[in-house]
Amino acid sequence: MTKKAIYPGSFDPVTFGHMDIITRASCIADELVIGVLNNRAKNPLFSLEERVSMIKEMTGDMPNVTVASFDGLLVEFMNEIGATLIVRGLRAVTDFEYELQIAQANHVQDSKIETIFLTTDPKYSYLSSTIVKEFASYGGNIANFVPECFIDRIYKKYQ
Ligand code: ADP
Repeated sequence: MTKKAIYPGSFDPVTFGHMDIITRASCIADELVIGVLNNRAKNPLFSLEERVSMIKEMTGDMPNVTVASFDGLLVEFMNEIGATLIVRGLRAVTDFEYELQIAQANHVQDSKIETIFLTTDPKYSYLSSTIVKEFASYGGNIANFVPECFIDRIYKKYQ
């Protein structure tokens, strides 16, 4: 049986940290779906469509990776698409408590679902979409944070 995994997140915007997890997860799962969350509680910098298309631009050459958006419960979306594995990245212990709780809650909802954690490459352990937005909003250098093709698009949001 093929193992279909989902890597869910806001990806607002996608960073080198996310890309590292995507690349590594695509070597573990047979099929990897990047699930872009349409979170109504958050007011994202990039629209859902923009976030999806940015990740598609970055993953076009990865044959077992697809990009989809979802809202509502992750476990329900996973049932719709036939995925059983959730991939999450862990940067620091501060991520751990929340991630543990969500992983356990999802497993209680549906016992077929397992979460696997990939530990961040140390060179990206400080990196988050929030840091990117913080720096970009003050005109700071974000070349070490996001793929070059997104830099202007991010700055434009603050003009
Ligand atoms: P959310 O909106 O759920 O916080 P994000 O888009 O910020 O989602 O992140 C999605 C996933 O990517 C999370 O599992 C997060 O821990 C992971 N992640 C984010 N940045 C990094 C990074 N620099 N290194 C490794 N994992 C990361």
